[in-house]
Amino acid sequence: MPGKRCRIPGTMSPAPPSPLSPAARAAALRDAIRHHDERYYTLSAPEISDAEYDALMKELEAIERAHPELVTPDSPTQRVAGQPVEGFPTVTHVSPMLSLDNAYSEDDLRAFDDRVRRGLAAPAVAPDGGEDAAAGLVVPERVGYVAELKIDGLSIALTYEDGRLVRGATRGDGVQGEDVTANVRTIRAIPLALDGAPGGSLEIRGEVYLPRASFDRMNQEREEAGEPLFANPRNAAAGTMRNLDPAQVARRRLGAWIYQLATPMAEAPASHLETLALLERWGLPIEPHRRRCDGIDAVLDFCHEWADKRRSLDFDTDGVVIKVDERALRERLGATSRFPRWAMAFKFPPEQATTKLLRIEVNVGRTGAVTPYAVLEPVFLSGSTISMATLHNAEDLARKDIRPGDYVLVEKGGDVIPKIVMPILGRREPGVEPWTMPSACPACGAPLHRPPDEVVWRCVNTSCPAKLRRGLLHFASRTAMNIEGLGESLVEQLVATGLVRDFADLYGLTASQLEALERMGKKSAANLLAEIEKSRGNDLPRLLFGLGIRHVGERAAQLLARAFGSIDALMAATQEQLQVVPEIGPVVAEAVRSWFAEGSNLELIGRLRAAGVNLTSLAPVDEDAAVKPLSGRTFVITGTLATMTREEAAAAIERLGGRVSGSVSRKTSALVVGAEAGSKLEKAKQLGVETLDEEAFRRLVGL
Ligand SMILES: [Zn+2]
Repeated sequence: MPGKRCRIPGTMSPAPPSPLSPAARAAALRDAIRHHDERYYTLSAPEISDAEYDALMKELEAIERAHPELVTPDSPTQRVAGQPVEGFPTVTHVSPMLSLDNAYSEDDLRAFDDRVRRGLAAPAVAPDGGEDAAAGLVVPERVGYVAELKIDGLSIALTYEDGRLVRGATRGDGVQGEDVTANVRTIRAIPLALDGAPGGSLEIRGEVYLPRASFDRMNQEREEAGEPLFANPRNAAAGTMRNLDPAQVARRRLGAWIYQLATPMAEAPASHLETLALLERWGLPIEPHRRRCDGIDAVLDFCHEWADKRRSLDFDTDGVVIKVDERALRERLGATSRFPRWAMAFKFPPEQATTKLLRIEVNVGRTGAVTPYAVLEPVFLSGSTISMATLHNAEDLARKDIRPGDYVLVEKGGDVIPKIVMPILGRREPGVEPWTMPSACPACGAPLHRPPDEVVWRCVNTSCPAKLRRGLLHFASRTAMNIEGLGESLVEQLVATGLVRDFADLYGLTASQLEALERMGKKSAANLLAEIEKSRGNDLPRLLFGLGIRHVGERAAQLLARAFGSIDALMAATQEQLQVVPEIGPVVAEAVRSWFAEGSNLELIGRLRAAGVNLTSLAPVDEDAAVKPLSGRTFVITGTLATMTREEAAAAIERLGGRVSGSVSRKTSALVVGAEAGSKLEKAKQLGVETLDEEAFRRLVGL
């Protein structure tokens, strides 16, 4: 709605009376809130909006106020939410990182201002300088606030010792967070040393965010790799900060804005605005659009202004943070157990629009995943015209009862991917029928299948042209084989004309074949051939990633290449050996194993080999990371061997990557049995552990 002022809705209406008893309703609310806390803080995948979450919390608070006997010590109202995830050490913040109370409307903000002013009411002063008891308390007319854009990212706490960055931690549950120092150090906006800061320890707080451009690029790469997309930049930033590999974090180019000095300082500035200026002088990044507002009306102006202007920024903001500026006034106001009383977060209204769902179509991805999407009557929303929306899967559609022909409420989730919130049932016309998934692939006509434990339907035809097109684009992409010039329209033509039926066909293309295609001159044909030629010599990880094996992203491709050194070694690997590679779990291992078990894939590798494509790692194999024939297997040796000592046998096992243990357990891969074996043989038989006689053992280790 360009030019139109943003609408701030009234306070949310109270929840309708519940048929449950207060105790049962409170218990149900606690369960729901804990569930959503986990979705939000631990999994970074919220299912409900912040407004809906706050409505649950407010209802629980109301029940507990009316029935104090129902308050439990572990009720979500009694603490700040969130649990650190495993994988990073835990650290304790100098003072709790409280979250802020939320306001959704002009009324909420005015109510906040009333509470602040009443909280600051001072006894009236009589003309003689004494207190005039008769005059009562004087409520200040206006309070000075600072309004700042609320960054939709991940809160962090930075610790500087004598001006040097020594630690970065996530907010976690507000009291304890996760130590993500290595990741924080990769964020260029955050200085590793402060300029002119006092000695000693300082904790500084801010928000890490993912710029929109980085977010779009990242999701594009994930889509190409067949990985699930992040719903919005905030989830992506949170996921990135929890990545255990700082090199990957660095590539994402996170930004940061600092908003608080948490350590009390003797000579701290008297106001928030001056504190921010001081932090800026030390070299910390401070968001430049902050503004001092005298009185709540000026704050509301700021909120209105940015509700529209925010889309011009290169980062997401979901609201405005309003803080009392003077430090002395803040100290008088104090905090409740959950929120400071001197601050409030105003959330911009979620932008929704109503339009007609014209029809539902399906898209075939590189992995054959067939996903429905909505074709909408074009509608203007959040600064752009929307004509399509994502629909996650057929089950989700059925659950929300969304039907083609319905009027639907659409929302931009985190302002990025429009989604359908719900159908407007009151406007459903007669004859509007539920949608059903087509039974055949729209691109090739092959029947669609859905594995029993999955929600996604797939086209399993290995030569499906839709899969091939998407696969070729991925194969040629910058982070895979990096074949510049092999774009969408060209791929379309190569597949349609039958010139390319698999990746290996690219290497057989000739100049005259290319020149015969639309919009392809001599020069661009020659350039493309040179690019294809160059890609023959690419290092193994690029090829492995480009093959598009499910669950094998760039990182897994690198790890596998480093561990196995060649496609041939990888092809021969067992599931067990694949799982020996650090960070490669059973899902990836199974995906790799089953990819190489497919005859048509082995044929493709053969054809790539014949085309002269490099199939080995250019980097020398890392001895520590290398997977050997017995990697991941544990052996026990018992009895007397005739042709070698036990030490020689153990050395042979270890040379091939296996481990030797002294006792038999369920985890033992095999027991090597010599003459006069005793109790270990009994135990192995009991546990069903494989036994090898000396002859079989010698064959296994190649002696
Ligand atoms: Zn198909």
